[in-house]
This record gives sequence, C-alpha cells and structure tokens, in this order.
Amino acid sequence: MIETPALNSLASYLTCSNCNTSYFINEVQSYAHCCDRPLVVKYALDSDMSGKSLLEDSDSMWRYRTLLPVLEQKNIVSLGEGKTPVIRFNSLENQYGFSSLLVKDEGVNPTGSFKARGQSVAISKAKELGISHCVIPTAGNAGGAMSAYCAAAGIKATVVMPSHTPISFQQECEHYGAELILVDGLINHCGVVAAGIVERESAFNISTLKEPYRLEGKKTMGYEIAEQMSWDLPDVILYPTGGGTGLIGIWKAFHEMMDLGWLKPDAKLPRMVVVQAENCAPVVDFINGEEKPVSSYKESIANGLAVPVAFGMDMISQVVKESGGTVVTVNDNDMISGVKEVAKKEGVLMAPEGGSLWKGLLKLVERGDISRDERILMMNTGNGYKYLEHLVQ
Ligand SMILES: *Cc1c(COP(=O)(O)O)cnc(C)c1O
Ligand SMILES: [Zn+2]
Repeated sequence: MIETPALNSLASYLTCSNCNTSYFINEVQSYAHCCDRPLVVKYALDSDMSGKSLLEDSDSMWRYRTLLPVLEQKNIVSLGEGKTPVIRFNSLENQYGFSSLLVKDEGVNPTGSFKARGQSVAISKAKELGISHCVIPTAGNAGGAMSAYCAAAGIKATVVMPSHTPISFQQECEHYGAELILVDGLINHCGVVAAGIVERESAFNISTLKEPYRLEGKKTMGYEIAEQMSWDLPDVILYPTGGGTGLIGIWKAFHEMMDLGWLKPDAKLPRMVVVQAENCAPVVDFINGEEKPVSSYKESIANGLAVPVAFGMDMISQVVKESGGTVVTVNDNDMISGVKEVAKKEGVLMAPEGGSLWKGLLKLVERGDISRDERILMMNTGNGYKYLEHLVQ
C-alpha cells in the first residue's frame, strides 16, 4: 500500500487588516495593535495548485486543512463540523416565483450553529500554542460551541453571556463543563467583563475578530459553497450579520480561490447582503451613513444579531461595497413568522437569524435590489431547536 503524504498547512503569517504590517503565526496573537484592527491569516497560494492535491478526503471542513492555520495535524480538535448540505426550497420557489432559492443549512453543525466551524479552528490553534484557559463574551451560540471544543481539547472555558439569553444556551455551556458568567446587558457589556478575566487570570480572549482563527474556520463556508455549486457561485448571498465573521470569511475564501486558480480571475462574485435585526442594526446604520448611539441598540430573539459594536465594521462594509451588495433589517415578529413559514413549507426549522433572511429577501425583492430570477443563497446559520420556547408571537 502506498502511503499518501500528510498534507501541510500553507499558512505563513498574519497581517493587520488595515496597514498590512505582518505578525508571526507561531506566536500567540490577538488583534493588530498597530491599528487596533483584526488580523488576517495569509497563505502561500499559487495559481498552479490544483484543487485535488490540496483537498483532504475528510468528512468535515478539515477537508480544507491545507488552507487552515493549524500546522500540526495532531492539534486538530474536530467534532465533525462543516460539510453542511445546500438545500433547495422548492415550495417557496414555486409559491413566490423564484427561479433558484437555495439554503446552506448550518443548523446541522455540532452545537447547532456555524459557530462550531470558528471554534474548531480557534481551539485547535489554542491547543497548538499551548493555551490552557479560554474566555469568550458571547450572545449565545459561540459560547456553547467554545465550551464543547474546549471540553474536547481539555482546555478550561469561561463563557460570559447576557443574563436574558434563553436557558438552553446557558445550560449547554454548563453541560460541557464551562464556567458561566451572566451579565445584565448585551455582548459588548460581556466583552468588558471578559477582558477583565483575561487580564486577571492571564487567560486567552476568543472574542470575535480579536482572535484571528475563528475567521478561518468560518471561511470554510465559502469553500464549501463553491465546491457544492460546482465552482459556479450564486448571484447573491444573504447573511445574518452580527460580528460579521462569516461574511468576511466567505469573501476571503472567494479571493483565496481566485489566487489558487480554482475560480477564474474574471469570475463574477456574489453580491453579499447583510441582514440585521431591526432592534440592533449597527452595520446597516453605518453603511447607510446613519450611525446611532450604541445604547440605542436592544436585544433581539435572533441573539446572534444582537451585537451593538462590531470590531470588524470596516471589513464588513468593505465586503458589502466591493461585492455590490446591500443591507436590510427585519423585526423580531417577522423573523418568527419567517421561521414558521419555512418550517411548514420546507421542513427545515431555522434559527430566527435564518428566518430573518427569508423575510429580508422578500423586502429586497420588493425594493428591486434582488430579482426573482437570480440564483439566491441564504446562509441559515443556526438550528431553531435551541429557541423552541421563544418562537411564539
Ligand atoms: C453568531 C451568529 C450570527 C452572526 O454571526 P457573525 O458571523 O458573527 O456575523 C448569526 N446567526 C447565528 C445563529 C449566530 O449564532
Ligand atoms: Zn496596522
């Protein structure tokens, strides 16, 4: 039997997302202190690399391991995340006259959301760097996912979550053995408490985009979309945006695939659409030039969208502009009726964040920003089963 050689990561260094100053990948990094912005991972990519030779035959997103930052295979902490299905919503297509309505269902991931992708890479890298205690401010799903991966890695986990978060999100953290701290307020208030713990206990902060590797995990959604659609990307992608990691990650993947020659240099990339909760829409307000005070943003049933301050705001708005995308808000009631309509018609119980996409899409069609004959892909980021008792109007 011929042994296949182990595939190595092509990750080479990190750069500041603002000024391109480089940072070492084999040292513990958080964000770019030169400009107070997120760091991004750079890979040694070259357009002669054929897809096949770079892709691992694996049942998880670690299929893209050469394009992820974990250098030694033994450090990978995986619970089978990724490789999620793309489902066609036939009934809604017919009823509303759409030509092609697709959903990538991230609700089937470990711990019920796409946060598993980010945490799988972040905790693997933390293990590789010898980190023994991770702390995270979270609106819900990221805390549950981090708890699970830390449990699997044997790393201590501390989760700081708003006290109004549904009990299922709180309990899962405790079941996975994490220390849970509840804070009256939103995720930005949790961020202040988490920073204090990081300081006092010399723990590592896994806060959105203040840790460079969750972005890499979420980028695998972009690779999967391209592969599942036979390298012919949709016209438009709708994304329920909180901290924006997934949106930025998908866009990063598209550009890496162009550098690799997997997408043609003149490939038409999808328009990236930000959908936010009416109660908390800082990205929509920023892009519309209508910035509001942070204190005006409130909680939402879509807790993943209740993010009043996005550390990656510049990167998010750049993706929307570069892609020719747009922004839209949806209120909580419409999200719930969106979830229910999709569940009845398609048999998929999405998170309210997913429900916001369906209602947001109808608004954008009405507004003339999306046409019914385009190829539309919605990213259902989470599983509705975690919100059951809250899906009432
Ligand atoms: C965290 C979360 C979001 C927002 O994700 P970002 O990539 O940080 O914008 C959306 N939906 C769900 C279900 C989430 O848990
Ligand atoms: Zn910089």
